[in-house]
Amino acid sequence: MKQLVLMGAGHAHAFVLEAFAKQPDPGIAITVISDAPLAAYSGSVPAWLAGECTLRDTQIDVAALCQRANARLLLSSVNAINTRARYVNLANGERVYFDVASFNIGSTLTPPQRHGENLPKQLIMRPLSSLHERWQALLKEVDRLPSHSLQRITAVGGGAAGCETLMSVLAQLRSQRPDIEWQGKILSASSQLLPSAGYLPRWLTRRALVKAGISVHSSLRGEALIEGGVLTQNGKHIVADIVLWATGAVGHPWLATTALPVDKQRFIRVENTLEVTGLAGIFAAGDCAAFTPRLPNAGVYAVRMGPHLANNLRHACYGDALTPWQPPKRVLALIGTGNGHAIASRGVVGLTGKWVWEWKKRIDARFIARFNPPFER
Ligand SMILES: Cc1cc2nc3c(=O)[nH]c(=O)nc-3n(C[C@H](O)[C@H](O)[C@H](O)COP(=O)(O)OP(=O)(O)OC[C@H]3O[C@@H](n4cnc5c(N)ncnc54)[C@H](O)[C@@H]3O)c2cc1C
Repeated sequence: MKQLVLMGAGHAHAFVLEAFAKQPDPGIAITVISDAPLAAYSGSVPAWLAGECTLRDTQIDVAALCQRANARLLLSSVNAINTRARYVNLANGERVYFDVASFNIGSTLTPPQRHGENLPKQLIMRPLSSLHERWQALLKEVDRLPSHSLQRITAVGGGAAGCETLMSVLAQLRSQRPDIEWQGKILSASSQLLPSAGYLPRWLTRRALVKAGISVHSSLRGEALIEGGVLTQNGKHIVADIVLWATGAVGHPWLATTALPVDKQRFIRVENTLEVTGLAGIFAAGDCAAFTPRLPNAGVYAVRMGPHLANNLRHACYGDALTPWQPPKRVLALIGTGNGHAIASRGVVGLTGKWVWEWKKRIDARFIARFNPPFER
């Protein structure tokens, strides 16, 4: 019996579990280590932040998926790996041995430095798995704000996550507290928003931000929270009452303490087969993997890697040859604008409309339904 250990219940591992549910293998015992029984699906996060669906609508039922795949689920987090003796240590003290292992543990971000007291309220966007706790805490604080006040909300990070979440969050806050005047601002470290998108999607996003009453400030890298706002790397003070911290993804800090080969951002280096460089039988996929060429940190890549990872994990269990994964040349990105519309972006092509938002919601609902049994509300 080969021991296959899946670490993290990210998007790619959802496909691996689905593959083993559809085609069970009596020679492979699967253990899933997940820090939660429900996993966040990134695509639905903007709709949830905008108040258009419940948290539960955005989550994959990991426990049910494991049951269908006949996998053992351990609810804890991995915090160390011994690549020679082939075991991982869990936060709950357990040790789990493996023949073949796979990481799909997502990413986090570098939190802001904090100088002084009376700092602005904050919402740190990653890790996604605990975003709901931070969002609930912020909503409670917003409930206590005085009527007729002016609240300036600043997103630090001009990528898709920063733009999209600021528009969604503003939509929700405006509807929750219409008695408050809300102003939005976005700080982008690069000279333009969405640096990896084409001209038209970028232009449409900027137009949507302006419509939502959000001003864009480019070439400003937010560094720290200070009294009354944000301090940028070049010493500017940006006034803010609430800060959304949505800077670039980085790997989980504990990965840098292991023998895994990690890059500067602590992402695990993998070959084109998704096997970790120099470590036979250990794989990584999704945000935590450093693929060559470098891929954006977007759920869609984890999704695309999933079925291929499932095949290569089976091959690895039997010592068969692995096959390379080919990343898609272009992917479709759908960015909600918080007003019941969305922007579709693929390469240089960009489209917008209410129908794009409805289309995105249908795609996301289908994705969630694929992995979840029907649940009671
Ligand atoms: C606010 C926001 C909005 C976004 N919106 C979109 C979007 O609309 N579309 C899109 O494509 N991308 C979006 N992204 C990016 C997207 O979230 C990530 O690229 C995607 O989630 C990565 O998927 P993954 O499978 O690699 O990891 P994840 O989906 O992050 O899954 C990793 C899982 O591993 C678990 N885990 C972590 N550490 C451990 C551990 N040590 N032990 C055990 N389990 C662990 C986590 O709890 C989690 O369940 C967004 C990101 C943010 C921050």
